[in-house]
Amino acid sequence: MNATMALMGNPNSGKTTLFNNLTGARQHVGNYPGITVEKREGRLKIDELDITVVDLPGTYSLTAYTQDELVARNFLIEKNPDAVVTVLDATNLERSLYLVLQILELGTPVIVALNMMDEVRRKGVIIDTGRLAKLLDTPILEMVARTGEGREELLKEARRAVLERRPTRTELRISYGRDLDETLDAMQTVIESSNFMDGRYPSRWLSLKYLENDAEVLAQGQSTPDVHSRLLQMTAALAEHCRKTLNTEPECLIADYRYGFITGLLKDGVVTRPTTQARFD
Ligand code: GDP
Ligand code: MG
Repeated sequence: MNATMALMGNPNSGKTTLFNNLTGARQHVGNYPGITVEKREGRLKIDELDITVVDLPGTYSLTAYTQDELVARNFLIEKNPDAVVTVLDATNLERSLYLVLQILELGTPVIVALNMMDEVRRKGVIIDTGRLAKLLDTPILEMVARTGEGREELLKEARRAVLERRPTRTELRISYGRDLDETLDAMQTVIESSNFMDGRYPSRWLSLKYLENDAEVLAQGQSTPDVHSRLLQMTAALAEHCRKTLNTEPECLIADYRYGFITGLLKDGVVTRPTTQARFD
């Protein structure tokens, strides 16, 4: 049985190290059609599964602002890989969870590989992986890609993802505060009562993309002009409200709330730092 597994993560999270560990030397460099950003593909066998592993460009986010982010996002949406692994630098959870949140908001099932655990341990930091996995409702594994620690667990989880594939998971729903949530709900109603963009995207995600002025989604939305202009009106009304009352833009508020959500996750006893000051490193 053939399957595809995508590796995503911030630059320098250890994706390529993991990719090489999983696929050995049998890799080639490929190009996305019409785009100069490179992806790397390799093969991996897990029992009866023949898996194509795709090393996607390193990204911090899934916006349409940069080519790398768009390539990674479109791969998720269009290729719908059987398993998605996000490789995180566990020494910087706050920054790296930002990407995970966005993948979960898209409703994509994801395996989180907490890489660089050797560094985390060296610093005396303790991460309650089980608790974080529960809070995010997604599998989380500890890894040291450099030594191969965690490889077997990752293979097991990837195999499970391929075989027990859920078409979609429930999208992660983050609250963006009363004003935004109200508009998002109204936009979702508009989207869901039409067959906007053929139902390819979760309605809340699409609504967020309108509020974020996402060039790619806005361009696609134009093919359904009545819904598109309705969503633009709602976006403009909210943007004006944000400017007047909070002196900010919806997209800034969205990022703030995402970081707030992460702070909340990490506060809950998930990360314990050493209290002693007697360290000299
Ligand atoms: P990429 O940009 O995500 O592809 O990251 P790379 O695979 O190129 O790795 C970035 C750096 O982190 C390299 O110097 C790796 O040797 C190092 N690295 C990767 N995995 C680990 C790990 O588990 N522990 C430690 N300490 N370093 C790692
Ligand atoms: Mg790399």
